[in-house]
Amino acid sequence: MNSYADVVVIGDGPAACAAAITAARAGLDIVMLGRGRRSGGAPEYLSHASVTLLAALAPGLSHEADIWLDPEALPQSGRALMRDKFDQCFRIEAIETGTRYVSLAAGRVEPHIAQGRISGVRCGGLSIASPVVIDASGSNGWLRRAMRLEESIGSPALWLERGLAAASPHAPENHWEIAQQGWLWIKTTGAQKIWTSLSTQRETAVQWPDGMSPIGRRWRDCRRWRCLQQAAGPGYFVCGDAAMQLDPATGDGFRFAVESGARAASMAAQLRRHPESSSLIEALYSDWIMQFYVSRTAALAECYANAGLLWAG
Ligand SMILES: Cc1cc2nc3c(=O)[nH]c(=O)nc-3n(C[C@H](O)[C@H](O)[C@H](O)COP(=O)(O)OP(=O)(O)OC[C@H]3O[C@@H](n4cnc5c(N)ncnc54)[C@H](O)[C@@H]3O)c2cc1C
Repeated sequence: MNSYADVVVIGDGPAACAAAITAARAGLDIVMLGRGRRSGGAPEYLSHASVTLLAALAPGLSHEADIWLDPEALPQSGRALMRDKFDQCFRIEAIETGTRYVSLAAGRVEPHIAQGRISGVRCGGLSIASPVVIDASGSNGWLRRAMRLEESIGSPALWLERGLAAASPHAPENHWEIAQQGWLWIKTTGAQKIWTSLSTQRETAVQWPDGMSPIGRRWRDCRRWRCLQQAAGPGYFVCGDAAMQLDPATGDGFRFAVESGARAASMAAQLRRHPESSSLIEALYSDWIMQFYVSRTAALAECYANAGLLWAG
């Protein structure tokens, strides 16, 4: 099948849905190509800034009872959700806003490059011509790998875990502890406690406080601080985890995904109106991503140095 879209988005997580909704609202014809995978039902905590951003982008989601662990949004407060249910609802919101969603069961998506510019994508028998491709493929880094885009790496491998926790009646509501080999964060949210930990060494688990312990499934991941040196270029924008990854201590991963997805789509809409300014628009977006990375890594590095957290090297 051959077709055309004003914007093609690769991925179907938070960054992709934010990009798709923003582009569709700007009147662009948009196709979102996703794997339809769920993130396995992991719990996640959205900062107050993330909740506010989400309410502006997809107001209906605030009231989807199935998504949230806390019964309601409290003023000036964050909120916890289950990612699999959230991702499904966000995709539906993108489709209802006018996005054409294609679920790719298998097959490699290839960028189509003409005269040094991405001008669409191909996957199996599917070929879509488009002046803008937005990569929102998460840590998979679709375009980074396809085009060998250069990135800055700012940390060694960091071993992450998250899940739900149980606590004795006298245990504190929340817990944050940082030590030489990592940190542990526990937060009471609604009737549940969710936790995330970071360790600088693969086999070293962080110490749990008395009266608290992990329960049920644990979700594991390994990440480094990393950022694309050029998150936008001729015919493309990269957003969310595909553009930049830090560790969850920033509490900003979700917010960055949604904000960068929405910004990339706004830039795509500007590009359509002012194609003569494409280099400037791409440079502005790349610079914003790099500034975000530099400011967050500086704050994290200072916090870790003060706490005596040691890199594994
Ligand atoms: C342990 C841990 C705990 C975290 N906790 C928090 C937290 O509490 N709060 C917070 O704000 N953030 C947290 N984060 C960060 C947050 O989860 C991510 O920043 C966010 O999910 C990034 O969204 P994204 O849309 O960029 O990528 P993803 O959520 O990874 O979505 C990418 C999507 O693209 C699809 N895809 C991938 N490759 C392709 C392809 N080639 N073609 C088509 N589709 C493709 C995938 O199937 C997926 O659906 C945490 C991260 C970790 C590792």
